[in-house]
Amino acid sequence: MKYIDNKLIIEKINVQYIAKKYGTPTYCYSHARLKKNINNFQKNFRSFSPLICFAVKSNTNVNLIREIKKFGLGADVVSKGELMMALKAGVSPKKIVFSGVGKTSEEINFAVEKKILLINAESESEIREIDRVAKIKKRKVKIGIRLNPNTDAKTLSQISTGKKDNKFGVNEKTFFKLVNFCKSSKNIDLKCLSVHIGSQILDYKPYEKMLKVIDRIIHKINHKFEFIDLGGGMGISYKYEDKKLNYSKYSEIIKKFLKKHKSKIIFEPGRSIIGDTGILISKIIYIKKNDSKNFIILDAAMNDLMRPALYGAHHKILPSIKSKKKSNKTYEFVGPICESTDKFNTLKNFQELEEKDLIVICDVGAYGMSLSSNYNVRLKPSEILIKGSKIKIIRKKQKYKDLM
Ligand SMILES: *Cc1c(COP(=O)(O)O)cnc(C)c1O
Repeated sequence: MKYIDNKLIIEKINVQYIAKKYGTPTYCYSHARLKKNINNFQKNFRSFSPLICFAVKSNTNVNLIREIKKFGLGADVVSKGELMMALKAGVSPKKIVFSGVGKTSEEINFAVEKKILLINAESESEIREIDRVAKIKKRKVKIGIRLNPNTDAKTLSQISTGKKDNKFGVNEKTFFKLVNFCKSSKNIDLKCLSVHIGSQILDYKPYEKMLKVIDRIIHKINHKFEFIDLGGGMGISYKYEDKKLNYSKYSEIIKKFLKKHKSKIIFEPGRSIIGDTGILISKIIYIKKNDSKNFIILDAAMNDLMRPALYGAHHKILPSIKSKKKSNKTYEFVGPICESTDKFNTLKNFQELEEKDLIVICDVGAYGMSLSSNYNVRLKPSEILIKGSKIKIIRKKQKYKDLM
């Protein structure tokens, strides 16, 4: 994405053109960026060729999952719906892992029937349920156990998952107990130790601590894990000043670990694959001044992009046409929804804006559309994919008749 003659261009397409042709708000993704992210990810960890399972919850568009699959990635799913979506996109069941604390009996049955690579179980009750289903189906089901390593991911508390007071995984003591249960079961094949300590992680040190915990635990158990699933969570730069995750450091630590414990590494990245590939194009409906504030009222709202309202997340905002006229006002970018948290950002020294101008909200590829809703009976936006000078509609805008 760059400005050419002050116009914002994605690959070879002008944002103004997209808005005119497809309306606003619209999610727009870049195939070139997707490719670059995947290539980088693969390159960083090439020395031990991990299985990379895209975390489908970050973006559930079947067309995007299909594109991601073409680069050889598998899928990490957290519901039957996501599993169906991954299969529909053509992802091989042999590359699918199923995570989540509350898989229902129906979901476990479905996963067993589809012969996916791993069900990563998160509690004793779930393992007993898998055992029961496997026995009825006369199958030996491959599972992982998700360990809660009690590691602070140093990220937003709302997206931290690896501390002992989070609902995810099992503690060390339970882990040992469950390993023994699995070994005594004829229906369960314990293949994997899995962890996932949180999201938007920009420092490699929490990962280092997590691996130390895994190392210590494996030493205490007489069991060979074919897979070690390290989860996802690699962060991206949402702000100009965000530091970057040091992938080579992370890779080094893993290589050291693998010298002691030979196993296949699985990753479950979502945000780092898809996050910065997407923008949300929105039009200014009105500009309204209240006392000291200047509200830029957009046609996009928290139902389209919930991260700011849900996590207090920050997203860059850019004008679709750059001008040198700086405004001395403070702009508060809001949506039309009847909630005070329906607010994207407050920015000073932005350029002068007018009603009907277009802006883009950046880095919305992950947890953007997948978290969208119909709150206020608002229609979900369209999604388009750009590849060079080609545009493909990958989801049509919802219609009122879909909702009535
Ligand atoms: C959400 C989630 C991921 C993906 O996290 P990102 O931060 O998007 O990389 C991976 N694994 C599990 C179990 C998850 O819940």
